[in-house]
Amino acid sequence: MPKAVIRSLLVSIILVVGLYGCQQDAETPQTVKSDEPAPVTNKAKDKIPLGQLPDDVWPLAYELELTIIPELDEFSGKAAIDIEINGSKDHFYLHGKGIFAGKVHLINEGESHVGSYEQVDPSGVVRIDSPVPLQGRIRLEIEYHAPFNQALHGLYKVTESGKHYAFTQFEAISARLAFPGFDEPRFKTPFSTTLVVPENHVAISNTPEISSTTAGGMKEVRFAPTKPLPTYLIAFAAGDFDVVEWADLPATEIRQRPLPLRGVAVKGKGHQLDYALKGTEAIVTALESYFGTPYPWAKLDILAVPDFAAGAMENVGAITYRETLLLFDETATPSRKRRYKMVHAHELAHQWFGNLVTPAWWNDIWLNESFATWMAHVAMDMAEPDGNYRRDLLSRGLGVMAGDSLVNARQIRQPILSNNDISTAFDGITYAKGGAVLSTFESFLGREDFRRGVRNYMEEFQYGTATADDFIRHLAAASTSQPAEVVISAFNSFLEQPGLPLLEMASDCTDDTVNIHLKQSRYFPLGSKGEQAQQWTMPVCLRLGQADESIKTCLLLSENEQSFALPGACPDWIIPNADSAGYYRFSMSEDDWSSLLNHSDRQNTNEMMAMLGSLTGAFNSGDLDVASLMSIAPQLIASPDWQVATSPMGQMRFMYDRMADEGQKHALEQRFNAFYAGKLDATGLQATADRDQARLQGALVTFLAETARQPELRAELVEMAKAYTGYESDKQIHPEAANPIIVGTALDVAVDELGNHFVDHLLQVALGSTDAVVRGRTLGAAANVKDPAKAAEVLQLAFSDEIRDNEVFTVLYPQVMMQETREATWSWFQENIDRILERIPESGWGRVTFVGSAFCNTTKQAEVEAFFADRIESLTGGPRNLAKTLEGIDLCVAKVQHHKDGMDTWLGQ
Ligand SMILES: [Zn+2]
Repeated sequence: MPKAVIRSLLVSIILVVGLYGCQQDAETPQTVKSDEPAPVTNKAKDKIPLGQLPDDVWPLAYELELTIIPELDEFSGKAAIDIEINGSKDHFYLHGKGIFAGKVHLINEGESHVGSYEQVDPSGVVRIDSPVPLQGRIRLEIEYHAPFNQALHGLYKVTESGKHYAFTQFEAISARLAFPGFDEPRFKTPFSTTLVVPENHVAISNTPEISSTTAGGMKEVRFAPTKPLPTYLIAFAAGDFDVVEWADLPATEIRQRPLPLRGVAVKGKGHQLDYALKGTEAIVTALESYFGTPYPWAKLDILAVPDFAAGAMENVGAITYRETLLLFDETATPSRKRRYKMVHAHELAHQWFGNLVTPAWWNDIWLNESFATWMAHVAMDMAEPDGNYRRDLLSRGLGVMAGDSLVNARQIRQPILSNNDISTAFDGITYAKGGAVLSTFESFLGREDFRRGVRNYMEEFQYGTATADDFIRHLAAASTSQPAEVVISAFNSFLEQPGLPLLEMASDCTDDTVNIHLKQSRYFPLGSKGEQAQQWTMPVCLRLGQADESIKTCLLLSENEQSFALPGACPDWIIPNADSAGYYRFSMSEDDWSSLLNHSDRQNTNEMMAMLGSLTGAFNSGDLDVASLMSIAPQLIASPDWQVATSPMGQMRFMYDRMADEGQKHALEQRFNAFYAGKLDATGLQATADRDQARLQGALVTFLAETARQPELRAELVEMAKAYTGYESDKQIHPEAANPIIVGTALDVAVDELGNHFVDHLLQVALGSTDAVVRGRTLGAAANVKDPAKAAEVLQLAFSDEIRDNEVFTVLYPQVMMQETREATWSWFQENIDRILERIPESGWGRVTFVGSAFCNTTKQAEVEAFFADRIESLTGGPRNLAKTLEGIDLCVAKVQHHKDGMDTWLGQ
């Protein structure tokens, strides 16, 4: 399968794994008992709290002291927790996982008692028993030790160039691997942390250092007490880091004090932090201006982590990132710079959404992730008004519609019934659909009213917790244009039910009236077993065009079907989603489509994108055939907007990869080349600083080289790949010899053309490099090898120490996605799943079911289902992910069946 498809799949997989820091977790079957014999008998039998802990035992403050020596396999700690106990108790529960507790003391009314600690559930529920009844305020002190985690969550180690470092990733429920505590977001308390590290190491946590003393080769670093925080936002890091002390962000009208800013990277990489540090002030300023309140914490550190499961994590005052998002300089591609800005703005937005106001429980994680997604685009739009950032938000909303068309799609606010649900809550629905729906309501209420609602909500709940109702209440109260009950009903209709609305529009005219008839249902594609009847309270904006004029009209569709009489003359065209402000697809009669397409030059880019999304929807639901879609393609390809010009590629690739037999592939290549003839001449192959041009160039080169397989282009790319990697010369990377936007494609093509010798060369380059970008490119390209023996060798890297945990998918996915290697990889996967899981955080285990999405036939679907049947319950998040994968195969099969004849006919013409 062409690399473009693989790359887009990889992108979606990475997104699924959690591009933004918002990685959650759940736990393994094991019971760890205290090192000391438990002194307590007479243990009352009661129900172990597997979800939320009871309300009658509440943490008030933590003092943590951890000794972290990354050279060792274990760390040790002392946790002292002040707790309020309501009523009299001889035992209570909290969280801790894989922790070996030593001394346990309970101090109540001035007396100290020896207690016991026992992990009573594999998810990390711990029972504390006391020899005497406890009540009121008590202090729990636990001395413990625990192993560094091996799969990128909890407190874990990373080794690079012979140096050892320790980092943490606690969201959602992995703080319990690092210290015992009440590991739920609603328990917000101050934390006073002390880290004891080797003398030459740097220690980092959420607040500024207040003292540092050394003795016996060790350094004890105390940090200022935090404001009230939940466990999942605590962070520690230790190692011989490069620390870049950046200039404080100066005080502003909103923030009366300067803000200390530092960048942290492993030794030797600090100089690559300048670009990211420099860009921080504009984003912080934009966010402070939006919220009208200062950045809420005492300092800001940004840390580049060499091996990291998510994309980034918004820990208070100590945000962690994959290196690829933070380490680069001015010469990086426009795409990488933009990606950094979006992720950085997302994590900084979390310092308010999530950190300052925290969801009371994981069912409201959308209050973090949907908001941070939406806010990142809004903040960047404020910081760089010419950057078209809000359009990216629209793209993400359109992109998630396919996933939202599944019967198994989650709703934005999904009940959390198990740790599976915590795991699957961090998906495209929460991020992209949630962001798009917020954008819809921002548009519906008006930006000013919407912002007032956000500010009032922040003010009421700062340093505390909140729920969806709290937010919606403020939004409704802030609206000056809509009745509160309409806002509440409309918002909840998008929040509390899954699926993508389909708006059917019909229109007719009398002399001075345009009659608009709207009908709503849930959109499902071909092959779906979903029930279409579903109703939203839906803000709908239409644009009606006549001659050189156009009028925008907004309506509220609150019934299944409604008619509206609009005054005015008969329009030449109507777009049923003006400015693409609404989260829905639309359909209409062929005549209305023709009128709209004939006036496509009158729609703005956002409207064109919404229109394309709806056309794609019509093709996927069988309402549009191949010939019709292909007849529209030239008009789209001619567009100067890259989003529009490249939009037919997705369906073209589907035809090529899934529908065409070998004989037809060549005919398709010819047609695709004809469609895009001349387009690449305009961009050429040279690097460009213009981001839109670069995006067009990247998409064109990948499509023309890998799907249309243009021989001349492929030959040029092979030369670029050789020069870039020093092939058959110095084996060094030569960044100046390649256009970074297309070098990935160049390497893939070179693997095809040059074979195993080039693959060996790429592996040597990849494994010899500590640069995450170079490693990702070369390793990803090497994984495109099709020769069976060499492919098997590449797959074995998934178990090698030479690759990082977060590179396992880089080698696995291209292999399972390519037709030539799919079967062998599937067999290998089945044989080795346990070893693969060892390298993935447990919270991500359920996502390995996505290997099944490589298939588009029912025989293989049955095989995938049978293979996972026995083990799916043990894979966190597995049941829903598997259901989505199997449903995706149904849809693929139905789409091929429906459109195959149409493609054959079109090719015969
Ligand atoms: Zn996030």
